Amino acid sequence: MNNSRFCRGQYIGGQWRSPAGSETFAVVNPATEEVIVNVPAGNRDDIEAAVSAARQAFDSGPWPRMSGAQRGVCLRKIAEIISRRQDELAELEVLDNGKPLPEAQWDIEDAAGTFEYYAELSEELDSSSERAVAVPEPRFSTTVRKEPIGVAGAIIPWNYPMLMASWKVAPALAAGCSLVLKPSEITPLTAMALAEIVDEAGLPPGVFNMVTGLGKDAGQALTEHPGVDKLAFTGSVPTGSKIMAVAARDIKNISLELGGKSPFVIFADSDIEQAVEWIMFGIFWNQGQVCSATSRVLVEESLYPKLMERLVEEAEKISIGEGNQEGVLLGPLVNADQYSKVLAAIERGLEEGAKIATGGRRPADLDKGYYLEPTVFTDMTEDSWIWREEIFGPVVCVKTFSNEEEAIRLANDSRFGLAAAVMSKDEQRCERVARAFRAGIVWVNCSQPTFVEAPWGGYKQSGIGRELGQWGLNNYLETKQITRFNGSEPWAWYIK
Ligand code: NDP
Repeated sequence: MNNSRFCRGQYIGGQWRSPAGSETFAVVNPATEEVIVNVPAGNRDDIEAAVSAARQAFDSGPWPRMSGAQRGVCLRKIAEIISRRQDELAELEVLDNGKPLPEAQWDIEDAAGTFEYYAELSEELDSSSERAVAVPEPRFSTTVRKEPIGVAGAIIPWNYPMLMASWKVAPALAAGCSLVLKPSEITPLTAMALAEIVDEAGLPPGVFNMVTGLGKDAGQALTEHPGVDKLAFTGSVPTGSKIMAVAARDIKNISLELGGKSPFVIFADSDIEQAVEWIMFGIFWNQGQVCSATSRVLVEESLYPKLMERLVEEAEKISIGEGNQEGVLLGPLVNADQYSKVLAAIERGLEEGAKIATGGRRPADLDKGYYLEPTVFTDMTEDSWIWREEIFGPVVCVKTFSNEEEAIRLANDSRFGLAAAVMSKDEQRCERVARAFRAGIVWVNCSQPTFVEAPWGGYKQSGIGRELGQWGLNNYLETKQITRFNGSEPWAWYIK
């Protein structure tokens, strides 16, 4: 791999610029614990340059003034290049994040699909961005316009590096915004590749800028910058809360996609094989490092013994290893920090008295890399840490319930409200439970399918706002009313 391209600096104002400082940080392959490359650690000066380029592109450049159809052409071009470079991008994602290659391939396809989808919405903006609203006074007419919000700062996490970038970059561009993207220091490689792609697609300079750097430096500087109109963040609740506090100083528009501890309620009439399949997909995909992961399973008492038997059997069959090895279904956790956090969570669960039905350790045959066996916990109390807090690893907690009312109570008893799922052959019951969940995303007889057309985001501490679909575009649009006086006589009553 040609690593030198990851050292050349920041993508600002349509070109690669040498970083303002000389600091770098190491990007590590989680499967081998080896350093892949040292990447420039962008600082406040890099952010200053990037925001100023984005500001200029927005205030006086062509991008926000183009038709939606013209912007759509660029978005489609980006989608095409992502698809053309799919294999290389997927390999980068495996190297950087550790996920199995088929999952990475899926992410890259989804990223291309996200740009395609927002190209369509951008085109539609030409006819939908201005509409009349009826006002009761006949001498006035009012129209409502949707306009780009301005300069966006997009701060993304490490669990789906390319996909999370596309969930923010594509709608921001479709709306006519310019932006500065700050990828996670843990997984910056595909964001750098995205800058190459945007460059090849021929966006006007300054519309897309990308600065690699640490959250506490580059991330903080981006959050604080007065030239940023909107902050879009995905990551942990504590960092989201900090960003919200900083944004409050100058009333920046924010959208936050934060954590979860998502329940999956399984009634006794469910098909066990299907239930196990959806649980496994929900908690072991991406090593469980998924904001909507199926981390709390609630099973009706009579089904519990059989379901546990099958879940443990299947969890123990999962092949663990380097993401680029054929047949591997579970890769390493993303880095040493995340690995020790998840191991500490397991330790804490045991101290609290919960039991491990399977897993909980490093696989015996893997002595390097941040690997962990798929882990199933039982017998935890309702108020235990392990039942209530996000672990962000391949660790599922299974608990029983005795009736529908109790299942709903347990499911909703959380400070999070990102996703929830229910399984039963009784359709009416599924509908009742789906409506009773206090969560932004609800799945019935399945868990985790995600479509770019449907809104994504949470209730309670899981965030503010929605990504994807029309809602994702609205994140980057302002609403303006224009009211015109069409009468011949003055309307005011002061001058007679
Ligand atoms: P963070 O929420 O801290 O990081 C997410 C992004 O925010 C990264 O780009 C990070 O940069 C940046 N960031 C960090 N601090 C600041 C700041 N003060 N101002 C602006 N940006 C900042 O997540 P972590 O990587 O630390 O992971 C910790 C935990 O968060 C995980 O264990 C998991 O529980 C949760 N998480 C949830 C995700 C989700 O999708 N909901 C995704 C990732 C993590 P940098 O990486 O350089 O620090």
